[in-house]
Amino acid sequence: MPPLLDVQHLGKLYRVGGWLRPKHLRALHDASFTLGHGEILALVGESGSGKSTIARLCVRLEAPTSGRILLDGRDVLHEERGHATLAYRRRVQMIFQDPFGSLNPARTIGQHLERPLLLHDKAKTRADLSARVHALLDTVGLVPAPEVAAKYPQELSGGQRQRVAIARALAVEPDLILADEPVSMLDVSIRADVLNLMLDLKEKRGISFLYITHDLASARYVADRMMVMYAGHIVEAGPSDALLEKPLHPYTNLLLSAVPELEGSFARGLPARSGAPALVDPPPGCPFAARCPDVTDVCRRETPRPVSLDEGRVVRCHLYPEPSRTRSE
Ligand code: ATP
Ligand code: MG
Repeated sequence: MPPLLDVQHLGKLYRVGGWLRPKHLRALHDASFTLGHGEILALVGESGSGKSTIARLCVRLEAPTSGRILLDGRDVLHEERGHATLAYRRRVQMIFQDPFGSLNPARTIGQHLERPLLLHDKAKTRADLSARVHALLDTVGLVPAPEVAAKYPQELSGGQRQRVAIARALAVEPDLILADEPVSMLDVSIRADVLNLMLDLKEKRGISFLYITHDLASARYVADRMMVMYAGHIVEAGPSDALLEKPLHPYTNLLLSAVPELEGSFARGLPARSGAPALVDPPPGCPFAARCPDVTDVCRRETPRPVSLDEGRVVRCHLYPEPSRTRSE
């Protein structure tokens, strides 16, 4: 059986700098990964590393510059040109960092949930519709459901609003939810509740998640596997525990040395940087070369390719030579 999501060599260039002197910002370069049914995959990396770009491409809010996206083995970009079809949107949903920004203050919570149910033909009668809205609210722990349904977004806390956003995504019974920093704006005390809800949905309904975060500790808590991004490159991927216990890439090492106890966000704990990596018309070579303690000449000349190692680990670094012809390009 093919994986639920199979992303192959995805790239995204943004044109920047005006039409007189156009330049290209390389937000994503040659990203390949798979996500299985009922799996949580975390995507971690500092600000601007390309995490949201991956999510926007996978939910097809934007088209990639290169590469393929396969859902259950079907090449969706090739088969469905242009914007995502209703069928694709039913299967792949996204939730955002700011649950307030994505909810309309003039609509009740019930109305927010009715919309996708009606759009995707999930209810035949008015009674059916309201029963489904209540069931969704029950699923995400917003009770008593009839009371919550009558409220407006501004009457709820941040954590409750994020639950509404999750309920809205669940309305269409998706297979995959792309969760872009879903807890980073929430109080620390309620983050675990939302993460536990994700785990519950994975276990009870087999829903897969791409969980985007700055926070290594929460990534380890929920994710089966993890990917680390730097300057638009997936520099390392593997099972969460193995990756954190024995990081392979020098950048992952640097991240972990900044948060030895895996507490809190590494966005705050990162060591001082020697300048942001160049994304606009980037120089050749490894994007981490300028900061890497293990840098050699080849790193400044050639961009390393992903190398697959034992136990599902992948690393993109010249320290790990490519075995003959096992590479993915
Ligand atoms: P954060 O943690 O801050 O959310 P991120 O890892 O999600 O960061 P992205 O939003 O994917 O980062 O952005 C990657 C790079 O692409 C950034 O340098 C960003 O400025 C750039 N970028 C994103 N969208 C556009 C756009 N529409 N036009 C030009 N550049 C863009
Ligand atoms: Mg982002």
